[in-house]
Amino acid sequence: MAVTAVEVVYRGIFQRLLSRNICRTIALAARKEGKIGTAFGRYSDSPERNGIPAKYFAVVADDPEELQETLAQYEPKSVDVTIVVDDSMCKGIESWAWYGLQPINDITKEGGTVIVTSLQDSADLLEDMHVKDAPYNLAIVKGPKSFSGLWVYKDDHTDVRILGALAKVAPQLVGIETYKETIREQWDELKETSAERSHDRLQITPVEPGQGNTEEPFSFDLPGWEEMEDALVVRPVGVGGGFRGEEGGFQAERNDKFKKWPTRTMRPVINFETCTKCTLCWLQCPDTCFDVTPEGLYDSDMESCCGCGVCEDVCPVPDCVTMVNESNFNDNSSQHDFWKRDRDGYMAWLEQMQAAATAEKGEAGRSHGLYEWDGYEKEIEITGVTGDD
Ligand code: SF4
Ligand code: SF4
Repeated sequence: MAVTAVEVVYRGIFQRLLSRNICRTIALAARKEGKIGTAFGRYSDSPERNGIPAKYFAVVADDPEELQETLAQYEPKSVDVTIVVDDSMCKGIESWAWYGLQPINDITKEGGTVIVTSLQDSADLLEDMHVKDAPYNLAIVKGPKSFSGLWVYKDDHTDVRILGALAKVAPQLVGIETYKETIREQWDELKETSAERSHDRLQITPVEPGQGNTEEPFSFDLPGWEEMEDALVVRPVGVGGGFRGEEGGFQAERNDKFKKWPTRTMRPVINFETCTKCTLCWLQCPDTCFDVTPEGLYDSDMESCCGCGVCEDVCPVPDCVTMVNESNFNDNSSQHDFWKRDRDGYMAWLEQMQAAATAEKGEAGRSHGLYEWDGYEKEIEITGVTGDD
């Protein structure tokens, strides 16, 4: 076998334990097959933050020398399997650990597999995933994103369903029977069954070179050491001026190097017809995302919004700000522009977005990571998705 490497790309804090469980179980199961493996998280020197893309790795080898050779690198430069535990990251990821937008399949090897937990189908996901010049496979573990917290474990079986899928796409790493045994020892037979069903029912779609999102991921040049200044210089961000170059309104100046949108799983949509111009969203947004339009409305800049949900929380008007699933969008265009251009069209679209958000959340309230959810049974109640689907 030589060495097999797996990365789990996850949302910081919300999915940390999920990712750790997946990678740790891979390493434990590999031991049972007489291999040697290790699991470790890589973030950056900054503390992990809510929603920021981060990575966990599992590396398995036949002997310690092979393993050490791989681990001499800071992190694997290429992996056999990329596991994505939130499908909104298929659009690409940016973290404090790397700069610019990294395509989700960036380090997936030729012929390797990207496993995504998603309720979308492969055609929808490939609209988001950037093209590669080598073939690979896309496998979908059907289900919603599983969010909890740093010290909170949400036992909705996502971890074992992914392990079942992994056994199917990379049986050379660890076989399904060994995963089942390891899962039974750590948890119970119900979770073992979920893993097996996920293994048996996994659909795998081959992806050809050039298939996918052809947009160039944003990037910028970092200064070389000769260009660096003698001291640490923190340049101020300017104050800003009129709304998108117009006379009236106000648009804050923003950091042009760090786009925050890869952080979010949800984005706010605004009802400009019911907004009372109370200013609360503008005041409270931690990322200064709201631009003030000349008529005094508030339009969130989608390149800067990290999807925290504070604006939805503070808005006093019912359903005026609604957090909706990021997967509904393929761009970061202005909602205010859309509304100005076609008010009826915008309001019909807004209604659709709100209905979809309500259906997705069920009776449980909003679904981004600010609120804790219950476990497996509750998930089935809300989504109807079980290990049987
Ligand atoms: S979700 Fe709302 S409050 Fe949070 S960053 Fe985006 S616009 Fe600002
Ligand atoms: S908080 Fe709501 S009502 Fe107030 S300005 Fe923002 S969108 Fe309008």
